[in-house]
Order: sequence, then C-alpha cells, then structure tokens
Amino acid sequence: MAIVDSNRLMENPFYCHTFSLSFIMNQHRSKSFFVSLLLLPISAVAIAQESVPASGKTTTEQPAEIWKPQPREVTPGKNCCDQPVTAPSDAIILFDGKDLSQWESVNGGEAKWPVADGIVTVNKKMGNICTKDSFRNFQLHIEWKIPVEVQNGTHTQHRGNSGIFLQGRYEIQILDSYRHATYIDGQAGSIYKQYPPLVNAMNPPGEWNLYDIIYTAPTFTEDGNFLTYPTVTVLHNGVLIQNHSIINGKTKHGDGPIILQAHRDKTTSEVSFRNIWIREL
Ligand code: MG
Repeated sequence: MAIVDSNRLMENPFYCHTFSLSFIMNQHRSKSFFVSLLLLPISAVAIAQESVPASGKTTTEQPAEIWKPQPREVTPGKNCCDQPVTAPSDAIILFDGKDLSQWESVNGGEAKWPVADGIVTVNKKMGNICTKDSFRNFQLHIEWKIPVEVQNGTHTQHRGNSGIFLQGRYEIQILDSYRHATYIDGQAGSIYKQYPPLVNAMNPPGEWNLYDIIYTAPTFTEDGNFLTYPTVTVLHNGVLIQNHSIINGKTKHGDGPIILQAHRDKTTSEVSFRNIWIREL
C-alpha cells in the first residue's frame, strides 16, 4: 500500500514535482527513538500529520549548531581533481557538459541554469533543479567548484553554498570550507545538520572538488514497516569524509531524484558543476 503525501510535496521546496508516491516515516534524531510509521489513508487528517512528537519535541526542530572541534584539514592528492573523472560503462550520464536534458526545475519546466564551456552554474533566481529520473540505491559522482572570486555574505553559510539532495531529501553540503569556518555539521561534506565530515579535504576556490557518494536508501517490510536506516558514504577529492553514516530524519519509501541546490543567499558566488554521473546499485 502506498499513499500520496501531496501536502508534503507542496510544503517542501526541495521536492521535484515528479516525485510522487511515498511512505513517510517520522523518526526522532536519537537512534533510540523509533516512532511509529504513519500509514494513513489520503485524507485531510492524514495530510495534517507533519511529525510525531517524541520526548516533547517534533522532528521539525533543528538541532543546535556545532562548531568544535573543526575537522582536521587534509590536502588532497596531487592533481586529484584537475581532469574530469569520466564515467564507467554502466553509468547514467546526468551532465556531460552539453545540456541539462536530464534535469528540470523542481517547480516544473526546464532547468534554466546556464551551461557554458562544459560546466553548468547555479542560477539562484531559477531555484533548485532535479533529475528527471529517480533513484534509490546508487553511486553518484559529481564535480563542483566554488568561484575564485567567492564573496562573504552576512552569514558563514553565505559563501558558495549549494548542495546535493539524495533521494530528494538529505543534503550533502557544498560550501566554501577552504579556511572558512562555519558550524561543522554545515560545512562542505557534512550531511547537513546531522554529521560533519571526518576531515576537511577542500580545494581552494577556483579549483574543482569531487564528490563520490554511495547512498543506500531506507528499507521497509512488505507491509510498510520501517526496517533499516538510509546510509551514505562520501569521498571528497578521494578522501573518505563520511563512512557509512546513518542518516536520521524523515525517511522515504521509494525512489527519489537528485536535487542540486540554488541557495537563497544574496551573494553572487554561484557554484558550478561538471561531469555528473550515477550508477544504480
Ligand atoms: Mg547547501
């Protein structure tokens, strides 16, 4: 049985408009707090269920920002990121430098981010873009660059902020974290507001960074009961920064798109991408 959680699709700006059937399970950040799966029919009552209170809190609350200890800096291997890492034979090419034919706006319609010289650059005015296809378990390769003329905004998060949302939901952060401190569960390579990276393997602005992301979606029993958490492993410039990290939060049943973030800050330091491919697992 599956339900259409149309309210959640509308209230979450990150959802791709084609992202449809899903089970939603709310769970508290603490692993000890497994809460009940919402298996409700389509109704106003069901749609109003945003979260299940746990221990006096709701899952919509954001945890406190954590600033210490800052992850140790690691210099990536020499020439690790100069050339694009070409896709293996069984990969699905999501962006090869030519066009955004595999992408669309999360609001529907074309993905109107500019493509030039083999790279695509965020257009904040056009908002987030997502893959037309959805994925469940995958290996994702993506290359990104903070502009060399990166600017500070009014917040430590306003410096080359973008991100990659897995299964349409969990963000692997993109930020200029090269000698630029922010809360560690919000710096580049963090699972946003959940886990900081193990180390800081950031290249400086103007140089390419590589993410290799291995994502395993949550699993459910046939009758929809939650079985296992989603997990993610991330290499940043060839350096392990997330090691089979268990993702908390609202989990989804079913496939989801890859979403690239157009962060809504006021700086003009827009992030660029190239060479994006994915292997389904
Ligand atoms: Mg971000």
